[in-house]
Amino acid sequence: RGLRRHFASSCDKMAPTTKQYDYIVIGGGSGGSGAARRASGWYGAKTCIIENGRSGGCCVNVGCVPKKMTYNMAQINRALRNGRHYAYDIPENTPFDFGAFVEKRDARIEALNGIYESNWAKENIELIHGKATFLSPHEIQVDMKDGSGTVTLTAPKVLIATGGYPLKPTNIKGAEYGITSDDFFSMKKLPKKYVLVGAGYIAVEMAGMLNALGVEVHMFLRQSRFLRKFDPMIQDTMTKHYEDAGVIIHKNHPDIKEVVQVQAATSESDPSSKQLKLIHTDGSEFECNELLWAIGRAPEIQDLDVKRIGMELGKKGHIVVDEYQNTSIPGIYAIGDVTGQAELTPVAIAAGRKLGDRLFGPPELKNSKLDYNRIPSVVFSEPNCGATGLTEPEAIDKYGKDQIKIYHTKFRAMFYDVFSEPERSQNPTEYKVITVGKEEEIVGMHLIGDEVAEAMQAWGVVVKMGAKKRDLDSCIAIHPTSAEELVTLK
Ligand code: FAD
Ligand code: NDP
Repeated sequence: RGLRRHFASSCDKMAPTTKQYDYIVIGGGSGGSGAARRASGWYGAKTCIIENGRSGGCCVNVGCVPKKMTYNMAQINRALRNGRHYAYDIPENTPFDFGAFVEKRDARIEALNGIYESNWAKENIELIHGKATFLSPHEIQVDMKDGSGTVTLTAPKVLIATGGYPLKPTNIKGAEYGITSDDFFSMKKLPKKYVLVGAGYIAVEMAGMLNALGVEVHMFLRQSRFLRKFDPMIQDTMTKHYEDAGVIIHKNHPDIKEVVQVQAATSESDPSSKQLKLIHTDGSEFECNELLWAIGRAPEIQDLDVKRIGMELGKKGHIVVDEYQNTSIPGIYAIGDVTGQAELTPVAIAAGRKLGDRLFGPPELKNSKLDYNRIPSVVFSEPNCGATGLTEPEAIDKYGKDQIKIYHTKFRAMFYDVFSEPERSQNPTEYKVITVGKEEEIVGMHLIGDEVAEAMQAWGVVVKMGAKKRDLDSCIAIHPTSAEELVTLK
């Protein structure tokens, strides 16, 4: 006994604190939270979350939530303008206080941070605030955020849910003078002239919001259309509509060679005092007050040091996983943006829950895994667009042109009937449904129009269930709506 006491006390002196868990979850964002709550809250696994930033991760702090709140704010400005078409006597530029809105938005996000933490506490999940690094596959060192030093944690099962970060170009001199979507959410005043580089979800959503709020918005596209991962119908119609709505789109834009900061913002209350000059490879120059890089996101793996433990990574640094979220190292799993699979909050949450079921649930759930097919998503553009399943080129590629049938409709929604021209004709509603084979199973649905974001969830269920065109036809229309066109397609 004396020997054991001697050994224990000398270990105490040498080693930092070591704690043991059933499940260590690295990252307290959408995926990590969903995973930990399922493991601990449902199945009682001894679980901790290591989080280096603010609880809730990207979605809550610099993603979906502040984005949707800002989108809602911009929608009010749009509604005020639309109101004039309905004979409301609304002044042309109704003043608004963007800074006051940002304060309210920030307060809500802070409340959400607390709600995440109290939910974890209720479900016996220990939150460890600090930066996680792998010492060995099942041994993780946490550099504590409060400066108290390091702790070492061990568990037979470790989940990586560390998300991603917004990219800035590395080959453009002065790229650091531009901002990313993370910085967008600390903006308290609106600059006058804004450049967005990129053609994906973020560039399109931000361009729509800023344009609705009266900012002069320039989009720099490498190609002639944006949202190129979407169906060509969405690419064509949305790009044209944004131009009609006043976004200045620079198509096939030459590469930026250098960003020069002519003047830094003189104060937070005057963001338009920031002046940037963009110098392009063809020698042309462009001046603006702000430049936002929206050129995609990269996996957050640097601090983890996964190379030390020999983990397999993809070409862009994402953690390679199989269909069960297993990494190349036994007992280590990964979900969400860090894996680069469908970078969406509900995907990360669902993958985390399924993994929890598989690792800690009853025997009948031992093969539980997320089905990554037919995931619906929307772009909170103006108007919204949404999709589920295959695009037309993907369907042709998969089944052959002679096997697929396209149903398409484009019309003006009734809401715009009282508008005067040119706005009357400039607000598109357009739907495309792609079916395959004699049975006409619906394998793709692509929608543009007001309120598509709300409708898309139900259409996502329909397509996921394997509905046939005849199922749409058999449903009685709800009149007068735009969506009724989907059950009367010819
Ligand atoms: P995150 O939520 O990013 O969580 C990862 C967490 O890990 C972070 O909190 C981070 O601090 C922590 N971490 C990282 N490294 C370490 C470490 N070494 N130690 C400890 N902690 C660490 N998706 C939608 O579905 N709908 C939307 O409308 C939508 N809008 C978006 C708008 C924007 C502007 C952006 C940027 C994204 C948007 N997304 C949207 C995508 C969505 O936010 C992400 O897909 C989702 O948050 C990914 O969740 P995750 O758990 O994988 O990672
Ligand atoms: P995306 O992958 O959607 O788009 C990035 C775009 O940047 C590409 O379309 C590409 O366009 C363009 N691009 C890439 N490199 C360059 C470059 N060097 N110069 C100019 N343009 C470039 O990434 P985002 O950053 O927009 O968003 C990240 C992810 O976050 C999304 O994929 C999505 O999963 C998620 N998200 C989801 C939202 C939602 O659900 N509503 C909202 C916001 C984000 P091209 O190839 O056409 O030139």
